[in-house]
Amino acid sequence: MTASQVETKQFQAETRKVLDIVINSLYTERDIFVRELVSNAADALEKFRHQSLIKTIEFDNHVPLEITIDCDDKTHTLTITDTGIGMTREELETNLGTIAHSGSQHFFEQLAEAAKKDVNLIGQFGVGFYSVFMAAKTVQVQTRSWDGGEGWEWSSDGGGTYTIGPSPGLHRGTRIIIELKEDAHTYASKFTLERIIQQYSTFVPFPVKVEGKKVNTVQAIWTRSKAEITDEEYTEFYKFIGNAVDEPLYRLHFSADAPLAINALVYVPKENFEVLGMGRMQPGVNLYCQKVLIDQHSENILPEWLRFLKGVVDSEDLPLNISRQSLQDNALMIKLRKVLTKRVIKFLAEEADRSADTYHEFWKTFGIFIKEGLTSDFEHRTELAKLLRFESSTSEAGSMISLDEYVGRMKDGQDKIYYINGPNRTAVEYGPYVELFKKRGIEIFYTLEPIDDFVLNHLGEYDGKKLVSADRADLSLPETAADADQAGAEQTAEPLADAVLTSLCRWMKEVLGDRIQDVKASGRLVDSPAMIVNVDGYMTSSMERILKASGQDQAFGMGSKKDMEINGASPLIKNLAGLRESDAEFAKDVVEQLYDNATIQAGLLVDPMVMVRRNYRILTRAAGGQTDAA
Ligand code: ADP
Ligand code: MG
Repeated sequence: MTASQVETKQFQAETRKVLDIVINSLYTERDIFVRELVSNAADALEKFRHQSLIKTIEFDNHVPLEITIDCDDKTHTLTITDTGIGMTREELETNLGTIAHSGSQHFFEQLAEAAKKDVNLIGQFGVGFYSVFMAAKTVQVQTRSWDGGEGWEWSSDGGGTYTIGPSPGLHRGTRIIIELKEDAHTYASKFTLERIIQQYSTFVPFPVKVEGKKVNTVQAIWTRSKAEITDEEYTEFYKFIGNAVDEPLYRLHFSADAPLAINALVYVPKENFEVLGMGRMQPGVNLYCQKVLIDQHSENILPEWLRFLKGVVDSEDLPLNISRQSLQDNALMIKLRKVLTKRVIKFLAEEADRSADTYHEFWKTFGIFIKEGLTSDFEHRTELAKLLRFESSTSEAGSMISLDEYVGRMKDGQDKIYYINGPNRTAVEYGPYVELFKKRGIEIFYTLEPIDDFVLNHLGEYDGKKLVSADRADLSLPETAADADQAGAEQTAEPLADAVLTSLCRWMKEVLGDRIQDVKASGRLVDSPAMIVNVDGYMTSSMERILKASGQDQAFGMGSKKDMEINGASPLIKNLAGLRESDAEFAKDVVEQLYDNATIQAGLLVDPMVMVRRNYRILTRAAGGQTDAA
């Protein structure tokens, strides 16, 4: 190229930052730059193959689809050439001068975060092209777009600038010429390159030739019969498709002819990268049609909540020349997604039956996605409910049971499934809501995640049985044998007479005013003196707390209505009836404190300052002093 036509340009500021992170923090994982360049070459070939099915292409259509790698250990250069889609001048500038293609600032922050935690995580991002500067002193990219326009050359040393200028005489595709750094000369060795290709790029669906020799086995593993594929091959493919370093937790390989022709190979990873602070995951399943990649990281092939899956789906029924835009509302795609979703859910249910322990691992890591699915995917709600797991009053701490297990051991006469939310198991077990459940030997789920109540509320019922939160006002538990045994035996404490209790309730309601809809004598408290219950059947205290915290409570038309129930057999309530006669002022303090305590047990907030001051007045009395009204 003539020097006069060459322009020098600055990298976008974010690009420089990414360059910095990649060059410095990935240093120990230098091999992956080869993987990144080969995968870019493969992407470019896939794009070309797809285009050639949609349109007739005249320019260079005889050039075979392949990746060639050449190295020279005298000049310490490495050249990677593909015959893919190539780039126009504009594309060259946007793709290799900015990081706009990778989601820009947000992406950059996540990348920096991941780099701090674990360099292995970076591989998940496909940091891509810039990783070349870990090993390169200089890089030249010569490229010519498939449309047959001019050829261009981009070059940089990974500092602040790059140059761009014309490059005549090129074929379709891209050639990347790397002059290696002194400490990276090994990448000019054929053996090193073969090893890396075999490790990371075996499954690239185009021939990869190192010094003229094909080093990968070009085959679509998902179209082969299960019996022929070894576990090692499956795992290798997972590592390839998921940019993973470890083994998957589950894999599902299946084919179907009806209602649609499908070959699918999908994996569940071991880790949930969203909880590792890496932001929302990209979908991980690629859509193929007759081994041609149609939609990478497809948003259409599976519902959003299954974005944690990695793998491929191949369907011959899709028209080969379908464009990516028309995938979204394509009727076949919708059908395909439905079939696949059902199959994945069924698979998970089978795995849960096969090994409860492995499923427990799955649930701890990905249960949140199943819950997301249950609240967002109406169609699969019932099947998804089978996958739910919670602790319960009968399960051991830390172990979980399914709704089916619960239903299987319901008591005679019990027609509802009960649950109660709490911050942890101990808090729930010490709380007032489970007292009668324990006494009657009725099992109750402990929903220990804030989102759980929304999920169960959304589900409404299971197997024809209503799901009911134990903090509901109108709860009535069935009488059980356990209950009958204890009748009389334990009822030593004589409860307050009905008339006294009714009058006490009325007075307490006056003291508490609007904070409570009503104060009632409880039919279900055993030890605790009082508890708060929800009159609106659909809203639980935990849901209310979350909506309040997120400022959404107004939208839902609440503070929801609540009653306070009191226990006429509790010594505190019995004494309170007397105290009300002898010292009404002090008795009011006790009522207020009872209310605050019950509110805290419901998981809701009280004003701590007011509460502590009152509490000191009560303690002073308890310690034998007189509270001063002044
Ligand atoms: P990603 O592959 O995740 O998009 P990269 O940094 O690896 O990010 O590549 C940036 C972009 O540069 C690609 O999206 C692609 O548009 C372009 N690109 C890179 N290598 C090639 C190539 N060999 N042929 C055509 N385009 C390429
Ligand atoms: Mg890439």
